Amino acid sequence: MHHLTSDNFDQNAREALRDPVLHGALRNLADNFVERRRIAMSSVDDWEGLRTRARAIKDETLAHLDEYLLQFVENAEKGGVKFHWARDGAEACRIVLELVKASGAEMVVKSKSMATEEIHLNDALEAAGIEPIETDLGEWIIQLAHEIPSHIVVPAIHKTKGQIADLFVEKVGIEKTGDVDVLTGTARRILRQKFAEAKVGISGVNFGVAETGTILILENEGNIRMTTGLPQKHIAVMGIEKVVPRFTDLDVFLKLLPRSGTGQRLTAYQSLITGVKKRPDDEGPDEIHVVLLDNGRSKMLSHPVTRQSLACIRCGACLNACPVYQQVGGHAYGSVYPGPIGAVITPQLMGLSKAKQLPYASSLCGACREVCPVKIDIPELLLHLRAEIADNNASNVKRKFSERLAFKLYGSMWSRAGRYNFGTKAARVMQKLVVRKGKIGKVSGFIAKLVPPLGAWTAWRDAPPIAPKTFRQQWREKLRSGNGN
Ligand code: SF4
Repeated sequence: MHHLTSDNFDQNAREALRDPVLHGALRNLADNFVERRRIAMSSVDDWEGLRTRARAIKDETLAHLDEYLLQFVENAEKGGVKFHWARDGAEACRIVLELVKASGAEMVVKSKSMATEEIHLNDALEAAGIEPIETDLGEWIIQLAHEIPSHIVVPAIHKTKGQIADLFVEKVGIEKTGDVDVLTGTARRILRQKFAEAKVGISGVNFGVAETGTILILENEGNIRMTTGLPQKHIAVMGIEKVVPRFTDLDVFLKLLPRSGTGQRLTAYQSLITGVKKRPDDEGPDEIHVVLLDNGRSKMLSHPVTRQSLACIRCGACLNACPVYQQVGGHAYGSVYPGPIGAVITPQLMGLSKAKQLPYASSLCGACREVCPVKIDIPELLLHLRAEIADNNASNVKRKFSERLAFKLYGSMWSRAGRYNFGTKAARVMQKLVVRKGKIGKVSGFIAKLVPPLGAWTAWRDAPPIAPKTFRQQWREKLRSGNGN
């Protein structure tokens, strides 16, 4: 397989579509997460009200981000937390490296963190001779496999149990087994030893509370407890958008995030960290450092449309709901942020010219917007980025003459009612040549194959035929029969 980059989404996606093992693994998404989320949502009285509240909190925070960040810093510093500001990924890596080197550590334990994935911290640590050990099971698996996460909540979702068993045989040296308890027990035994030895623990942050200077990190495996609590030094890498104004705001996000992400009412552990340990005999680190990461976030903040990208709480629900992601998985996006949110964040982080295919990696069906717990209008963002690509000519692609001609004809046909009616009538007659008997959902008939260039629509799926009657015809008939209300 060629190197997967965001600029190659088209080719990556085609390869992913031909991978039956990947499809088997991705079936877990629909079977587990989508259904579990639906059940978990129903345990909240006013889900829509909660989403609206969450978005209002995020909007308020983003409108006054500078003030809330300073308040967060001031209150956390009272508890002995030290802060470092990083303009970009390189600066953040440099800061973390200096902090690790200052403690003399040659190995660090890490808990799952998208911010550290975003800045490629593991590569920077390894290049400096420091061994990073991922301690979230999924992250550890993909670290063993030298891969990047394919999902922001379930990083190894693309792997089957059999592939993981083979990986353990190769990298850990155990006998091949399909027993999940043996596999997880092996990981636990190895990682516990690392926790006991580590001088430095590195984590991400789910929320930073301005009012109290508290950091909240959510998880299910207990490894974050150990990463942040056992080593003498805890370094947290936090995107500047992760701050929330009040402690009570956490109530809203704690109801939304686990339900949206994994279909849980609450994650198994919630670590609330407010300052370093107070007395020598207390548990917890002597030093806590928070690296506040910008890396393109200020730019997103500066535009009214792109600003909403910063409301994301990284729940992963939009990935699970996305028909494109469900088919191609995360690696096709060539970024640590895949799926619908990745398609909008990655081009903004990397620059449009390096990820110009991603805003087109969507059918704009709106499923992501429907499930997003903070009501991010991802289709609006995708269209905004597409418009920017077109305006900047970032793609440097001169459209083919045939394509330009086709769109001219299309525009001319569809801009006059008479031509539009004639066109749809003609298409209705012509489609008889290609419509087959059967059903797509509730629609009778389907089109399995169209001629090029329209054939791209039917290369991977059947298309529904044009409805036998127009809306106007149906409406007139309803009025005539007295059912028009
Ligand atoms: S965009 Fe919304 S649904 Fe997608 S990960 Fe972010 S918060 Fe979750």
